[in-house]
Amino acid sequence: MKELSVIAENVQASTTLAMDALYKEMKAAGVDVIGFAAGEPDFPTPDYIKYAGIEAIVNNATKYTPATGTMELKKAVCYRLKEDLDLDYEPDNIVVTSGAKHCLYVALRAIINPGDEVIIPVPAWVSYNEMVKMVGGLPVYVHCDEDNDFKMTPAQLEAAITDKTKCIMLNNPSNPTGMLYEREELEALAEVCVKHDIFIMADEIYYKLLYDGKTFTSVASLGDKVKELTIIINGVSKSYAMTGWRIGYIAADARVTSVIAKYLSHSTGNPSAPAQAAAVAALTAPQDTAEEMRKAFEERRNYMVERMNQIPGISCLKPEGAFYVMMNITKLIGKTIHGKMILNADDFGDVFLKEGLVCLVPCTGFGDPYFLRWSYATSMENIKEGLDRLEKFLEG
Ligand code: PMP
Ligand code: GLU
Repeated sequence: MKELSVIAENVQASTTLAMDALYKEMKAAGVDVIGFAAGEPDFPTPDYIKYAGIEAIVNNATKYTPATGTMELKKAVCYRLKEDLDLDYEPDNIVVTSGAKHCLYVALRAIINPGDEVIIPVPAWVSYNEMVKMVGGLPVYVHCDEDNDFKMTPAQLEAAITDKTKCIMLNNPSNPTGMLYEREELEALAEVCVKHDIFIMADEIYYKLLYDGKTFTSVASLGDKVKELTIIINGVSKSYAMTGWRIGYIAADARVTSVIAKYLSHSTGNPSAPAQAAAVAALTAPQDTAEEMRKAFEERRNYMVERMNQIPGISCLKPEGAFYVMMNITKLIGKTIHGKMILNADDFGDVFLKEGLVCLVPCTGFGDPYFLRWSYATSMENIKEGLDRLEKFLEG
């Protein structure tokens, strides 16, 4: 066999999906393990959305649609962007794909030439790095300290820019940190991007999941020039508990969406037609069920953060959005726990899974080897038990 694609062979598999698969495998083998790895709401998809999907199937909405999505769904996306974020987009600016992950990939495909640099503030969701490599780009990391709430400053951004910089990845609120860039912070970062004519890949998939009464500003709302450079990435997976339906959307300048359209027309074609119909229901119906889920996440976050910060040896910040907590294990580095010397988050994750029977995601793949990510998109019962296990595990 000839050699395979060098780019493809250098791609690392997703640690989030790998940890979740490992948890499910252990569970299926009868092990009493608790999983906090998957960033996936534990709630079922709300009934009105499920019925919209069923109705679509019964009514034969089971054929090809335009590759970039149905007009009905594009209009529903425009409606939601206007309602929630006061953004004006036309259907031409919208592309619907098979999940926000796919949106990110095709959007990067549309703007990156080989050797272009993409700035990734880390910690960042594991897939950004790999996707940039997959499209032939070069990831450039900006390390964001816990002391600055894991946020990138305009000075850090400015320092990372070269004449090859094409784009920054801006995930707000962030997976894995849960931190939120407020309006003034966004304005300062956007100013730098406009000055250097850099695209902003604004992954806003968690924008509805904010706590403590915080409000969300889309970076695209900060003026015409910023809007032109911004590629909004969003989807229904997180806010409507629809991870398996695989619907994500892009809102961007029509020059960008028309290139993406060509790309999709030769690769996936349209995302699932019944899933598109279900997404229309999610985006256009009253948003009460999404709000109920948000409230449940807030309650779980409060409990998890408070308890975690009472356990000696570890700590965490209080996230303002999404559904993740970053557990800092710096104080445990160099210690031996249950017979294993802890040198990084992978060591801790490994021994905690084997001996503590709790599955987390080590943040090494997210760019920070002294943190592990807990997802609180799971029941309060699991959260209590998981933290009980952590306490017992660290007591030795
Ligand atoms: N962006 C971020 C930051 C995420 O955490 C996820 C979750 N997988 C996605 C995009 C992709 O979401 P999906 O493909 O399920 O729509
Ligand atoms: N975004 C989620 C996570 O970070 C889902 C898994 C994935 O696609 O990475 O866990």
